[in-house]
Amino acid sequence: MTSESSTSLGDILRLRAEHLGKALSIGHGKPLHISHGSMQYLYATDGTRYLDLVNNVCHVGHSNPRVVEAGQRQMALLNTNTRYVYDGLTEYLTRLAATLPEPLSVGFLVNSGSEANELAVRIARAHTNAYDMVVVEGAYHGHTGMLIDLSPYKFRGPGGKGEPEPWVHVVPIPDTFRGGERDHAAEFDEIVRSAGPIAGFLVESMLSCAGQIPLPAGYLAAAFEHIRAAGGVCIADEVQVGFGRVGTHMWAFEEQGVIPDVVVLGKPMGNGHPMAAVFTTPEIAASFEEMEFFSTFGGNPVSCAIGMAVLDVIEEDGLMQRAEALGERFMAGLRDLQSKHPIIGDVRGRGLFLGFEMVRDRDTLEAAAEEAQALVGEMRERGVLLSTDGPLHNVIKIKPPMVLNEADIDLTIDLLDEVLSN
Ligand code: PMP
Repeated sequence: MTSESSTSLGDILRLRAEHLGKALSIGHGKPLHISHGSMQYLYATDGTRYLDLVNNVCHVGHSNPRVVEAGQRQMALLNTNTRYVYDGLTEYLTRLAATLPEPLSVGFLVNSGSEANELAVRIARAHTNAYDMVVVEGAYHGHTGMLIDLSPYKFRGPGGKGEPEPWVHVVPIPDTFRGGERDHAAEFDEIVRSAGPIAGFLVESMLSCAGQIPLPAGYLAAAFEHIRAAGGVCIADEVQVGFGRVGTHMWAFEEQGVIPDVVVLGKPMGNGHPMAAVFTTPEIAASFEEMEFFSTFGGNPVSCAIGMAVLDVIEEDGLMQRAEALGERFMAGLRDLQSKHPIIGDVRGRGLFLGFEMVRDRDTLEAAAEEAQALVGEMRERGVLLSTDGPLHNVIKIKPPMVLNEADIDLTIDLLDEVLSN
């Protein structure tokens, strides 16, 4: 594989500035000119290898050969849409449904997490004949008009309106690090009670943009009870945390001991090929039968072949079990760093969905956002890609391709130690 590039970085940046909307920014601070990826690594055009600890889309590895081969083979054979009958669709739906608890057996296949969340909300509204939605502070659920209104991360952020639409009810982040002794269940109950008829609650099974936060034990059980009592449907957004990333379970909601009414899958589903899905119960799906549903590309034979290969790799290589073991190793390393470096205020996560929160003072919890950004830059200079998130931009998030190894983790911990000691 050559890392030659015919266009200089300067030219590419000039062309991006000319032809790409400015609303889209480049990740990783300084532009990284990459030529190819292989499993947990990205390669720059200058030959530098980077360990990718950020990209949870390339779940089973960048350009995983088994996934590539499955897509190539199917592309050469047949690609059409779901109005035709072919084996791949039903094989894939059956396989996916088998990973979900009963009664979540009816799936809709689409092309992005946004499309899937949008569909999930439409299904909830059709089922309940209600309109209002409940979401968690700091959440991001997608880029469509409806989902911007349902994403406090966006409507409260730059360019946003600031206040939620009257049909959107925002519950606090159940953040035990910053939330102190707050009674999140009581606050949740109060917000739902004072709202109008509720169509649903859209919630990530572990919070990503809100700061890599595993929900406190019992949170979803209590929340779902309040929502169902109000007549609403509970939608789990597994776009970031699904497909075994949390290690102990295929789906992060399982860790909370609940069964949602609707589950939304995305990002890792096609390992980079655009795929997403909504799964629900036969009863709820029946409420959504009146209006015809069709997605031109959703569930096409190539996507099904790719999605099937992703599931094969997760299963055959035991990636979920590996995520648990590797996560424990990572967590232990991060906890050691926390005991050495006061700037690490909190370390949290499950499996390979991890984060650590940087603070200037462990008593006041003043956010160390610039320090977090600087750390990301220093690590990138050392060949490790990380990024920041959370409402205060001071959480370092870790959600690598699930194929990384022990040596990658040990190296990362050593390098973090080196940077934090400077
Ligand atoms: N839900 C969550 C939790 C997400 O993180 C994202 C994407 N960052 C989306 C939904 C939207 O997915 P997409 O970008 O594929 O539309």
